[in-house]
Amino acid sequence: MPRSSYKSFIFCPIALLAHSKCLAAFAVGLHLLRGVLLAQQVGLAAGAEATGVPASRGDPSAALHVQQQGLDRLHRAIDEAAARVMPKVIAYRRDFHQHPELSNQEVRTAKIVADELRRLGIEVRTGVAHTGVVGVLRGGNPGGVVALRADMDALPVTEEGDLPFKSTIRTHYNGHEVGVMHACGHDAHTAMLLGAAEVLTAMKAELPGAVVFLFQPAEEGLPDGEVCGAELMMKEGALDHPKVDAIFGLHVFHFESGEIRFRPGGFMAGYNDFKIRVQGHQTHGAMPWDGVDPIVVASQIVLGLQTIISRQIKLTTAPAIITIGSIQGGTRNNIIPNEVMMEGTIRTFDPEMRKQIHKRVNLTATSIAQSAGATADVKIENDAPITFNDLNLTAKVTGSLRRVSVGRCDSNTPAVTISEDFSFYQQRVPGLFFFLGVTPKGTDPSTVAPNHSPKFFVDEGALITGVRAMASLAVDYLAGADDKLHAGSK
Ligand SMILES: [Zn+2]
Ligand SMILES: [Zn+2]
Repeated sequence: MPRSSYKSFIFCPIALLAHSKCLAAFAVGLHLLRGVLLAQQVGLAAGAEATGVPASRGDPSAALHVQQQGLDRLHRAIDEAAARVMPKVIAYRRDFHQHPELSNQEVRTAKIVADELRRLGIEVRTGVAHTGVVGVLRGGNPGGVVALRADMDALPVTEEGDLPFKSTIRTHYNGHEVGVMHACGHDAHTAMLLGAAEVLTAMKAELPGAVVFLFQPAEEGLPDGEVCGAELMMKEGALDHPKVDAIFGLHVFHFESGEIRFRPGGFMAGYNDFKIRVQGHQTHGAMPWDGVDPIVVASQIVLGLQTIISRQIKLTTAPAIITIGSIQGGTRNNIIPNEVMMEGTIRTFDPEMRKQIHKRVNLTATSIAQSAGATADVKIENDAPITFNDLNLTAKVTGSLRRVSVGRCDSNTPAVTISEDFSFYQQRVPGLFFFLGVTPKGTDPSTVAPNHSPKFFVDEGALITGVRAMASLAVDYLAGADDKLHAGSK
């Protein structure tokens, strides 16, 4: 469809007149942009010719120019609104930091979030996945549905450092008395998303579509058998009412404040824990031929597993790791035991490769065992998917992130081997997850305390970038803007 858009020149002044007294500049920007998009949808040529403007002779670059103007106005409005809400965002972040709550116990945090969303006039559902909060902001115009996600839980870490709003909360965890701390920066995530909600609410009447705010509990991991926050939020319909088309999320990380990093495709590892039980036949250590030695078989399996990554998987596609971290078997030196238990972990970045690795772990273990007359029972469990940034979506919104990071945006950063339950959402709908740097400028990187450290530090100067990023991603996605439009964006 041609990108001709003369009609928007007519649309725009009407919008200007209608809104100049009561709405901020962003309203005009959205009208302008929507005008372009509507014109594209209804087939502009006929309408434009009725006005005497020869649309068919329209210059596509002129159409782009008009759209660019609409976006520029819109972005300025987002940036101004973000600057206005920052004192509140920082106050919320400090309050959450001082009152951290462990996974599935985020009662106080959830209440503050729900109260603030209600104050903004956003529809709110509480108690989703235990303590989660879902807010729905319905725009004044029809369109798609985009979700923005923040996690709310803290960690059993005793905070060090001397922040005036340092956590002094203590609890019992796994039989130990420990402190509780927002050592992963989820306090900042929650506060930034509240800020983005306020920014987007200010342009509600003009918003083409809806924004779903997901305030999720329990990202940090739960005891065996419990379902993580993201998975449970989805099971309880967080992406269904209304049906979400795309999702965005961020994580603060220890690199320079305000910088944004991500990559298309596999960004954070998927992991699986696995167990292998090797069953032999017990006998005297001096007469191995009278039994089947599971210790020797297990040793062969360990080495066999290492050949999967090094010999059988196309390593140029993506990295992968298989680690055996535990072997238990036997009671004394001269008894060949009946069985050996092994435990390990698999980390992958490519969904197809992951399937292959699972198959080959099973085949390698069972075949080696069989060759010795033993058996191997392989259980691959605790599935955490790959945080996989949808290629089309990432290409479409890379410009949004470039704009808000003011040139400090690495869109092809190396993948990381840690995992993130945002990946569950990405299995259902296209999603993009990115990192936001929160280390103060000029800090020696070798001295920086990473996430989960008792000295993890968030430079609050970076938070405005996160607010602008989330609001811009939502608006740009809903407006149908693509990377091309951002080419000239400052
Ligand atoms: Zn964490
Ligand atoms: Zn985290």
